[in-house]
Amino acid sequence: MDLAYSDEEEEFRGRLREWLAATLPTLPPRPDPLDWPARRAYDCGWQRRLYDAGYADVHWDASPTQRLIFLEETELAGAPYVGANFVGLLHAGPTIAAEGTPEQRDRWLPPVLRGDEVWCQGFSEPDAGSDLASLRTRAVRDGDEYVVSGQKIWTSHAEVADWCELLVRTDAGPGVSKHRGISWLAMPMDAPGVTVRPLRTLAGSTEFAEMFLDEVRVPVGNRVGDENDGWRVTMVTLSFERGTAFVGEVVACRRLLGELARTARENGTWDDPALRRRLGRLSAEFQALWRLTQANVSEAQATGGVPGAGGSVFKLHYSHARQELYEAAAGVLGPDALDLGHDWTLDRLSSLSYTIAAGTSQIQRNIVAERILGLPKGR
Ligand SMILES: Cc1cc2nc3c(=O)[nH]c(=O)nc-3n(C[C@H](O)[C@H](O)[C@H](O)COP(=O)(O)OP(=O)(O)OC[C@H]3O[C@@H](n4cnc5c(N)ncnc54)[C@H](O)[C@@H]3O)c2cc1C
Repeated sequence: MDLAYSDEEEEFRGRLREWLAATLPTLPPRPDPLDWPARRAYDCGWQRRLYDAGYADVHWDASPTQRLIFLEETELAGAPYVGANFVGLLHAGPTIAAEGTPEQRDRWLPPVLRGDEVWCQGFSEPDAGSDLASLRTRAVRDGDEYVVSGQKIWTSHAEVADWCELLVRTDAGPGVSKHRGISWLAMPMDAPGVTVRPLRTLAGSTEFAEMFLDEVRVPVGNRVGDENDGWRVTMVTLSFERGTAFVGEVVACRRLLGELARTARENGTWDDPALRRRLGRLSAEFQALWRLTQANVSEAQATGGVPGAGGSVFKLHYSHARQELYEAAAGVLGPDALDLGHDWTLDRLSSLSYTIAAGTSQIQRNIVAERILGLPKGR
C-alpha cells in the first residue's frame, strides 16, 4: 500500500483548489432540497462547469488517486455533490466505460459528462432487493428490439431521469440458474409504456419512485454486455458503487463533526464528558474510514482501477458511523433536532436509509465474511 502522493498528483490538487476558489462564489443559490426538477437543473449546471474546466471525466479516465484527490478537495471546498448525476457519473457511466462498445461509449458518456442527461438505476423489484438475481422483469426479443414488462421499485431520481440502467430477465427457461439469463439495458425514460409513480420518504422527499413497465420497446443495441451476461456486468457496477462512490461523504462527515463540536461548545453541551467521549470516538472512526478509503484506492490503483471487496468494509462502517453522527447531533441540538426546517434534521432522517441503500449492512457482512474472511456461504 502506497499512501504518498506524487508531485504530479499534488500539482493536480493545487490546480483544482485554485479553480474551486475562483468558481464556487459564482454559483447560483442552492435549490430547495425537496424540489427535484430544480435540483436536477442545479446539479447538471455544476457538472457543466466541471466539464468546461476539464474535470468532468475524473470519475472514469483519471487514476483512482486523482479521483480521491478530486472528491476530497471538492468536498473540503464545499462544492456541490454529484446529486442527480449520481447514477450517470458513478454507476452507469463507469459501467458503460468498462463494458460498453465504442459506439455505446460515444452515445452515452459525453452527455453524462456535460450534464445534459441524467440516469437512474432500475435494479430492485418488490421481490428482488438483496436477492437481486431473483428479478422477474421480462425482456422478450422481437426482431431488433426487446419488449420489456415488469415492475421496479426504489428507483432514485426516476422522475427527473432521461435514461435508466435496467436489469431484465432475457432467459427464464427451466434449468437456467437465476444468475444467468439476466441482461443490462439502457432504457430511455420517455419510451411509451414507462410509468413513474413517485414515493415520498420520511423526510418528505420524492427522491425515488416505483416504475411500471408495460411492453416497453428497447433496441437490442442498447444492451451493454452479452445477452444473459448481465449479472457479471452488474457486479462491475456494484463494485463501483461500493468502492469509490462514497469517498466525498467521509470528508463531509469530518467537516460536520467539526461543526457539531463548535455548536456543542457554544450551547454548553460540551460540558458533558459522555458527549465529548462520543464525539472523540466518532472523530477516530472517521479518521480510520479516511485511511481505509486511501487503502482501497491504493489497492484499486495497483489492480487496474476496479474497486474490490474492501468497498464493503468501508460501506458497512461508514453507514453506521454516519447514523451515529446524527444521533450525537440530536443530543447537541436538543429540541431543534425535531425541527424539519433545520439542516441536520433532514439529513438525520435521510441517514436512516444509509444501512439499506446500495446493499444492506447484513449483505455487506455476508460479502466480507465470504470474500475477505473466506468463511463458507450460509446458504
Ligand atoms: C435511499 C435508497 C435509495 C435506493 N435507490 C435505489 C435505486 O436507485 N435503484 C434500485 O434499484 N434500488 C434502490 N434502492 C433499493 C435498495 O437497493 C434495496 O432497498 C436494498 O437492496 C434492500 O432490498 P430490499 O429493500 O428489498 O430489502 P430485502 O432484501 O427484502 O431485505 C430485508 C431485510 O432482510 C435482510 N436480508 C436479506 N437477505 C439477507 C441475507 N442473505 N442475509 C442476511 N440478511 C438478509 C436485509 O439485510 C434486510 O434487513 C434504494 C434504497 C434506498 C433505501
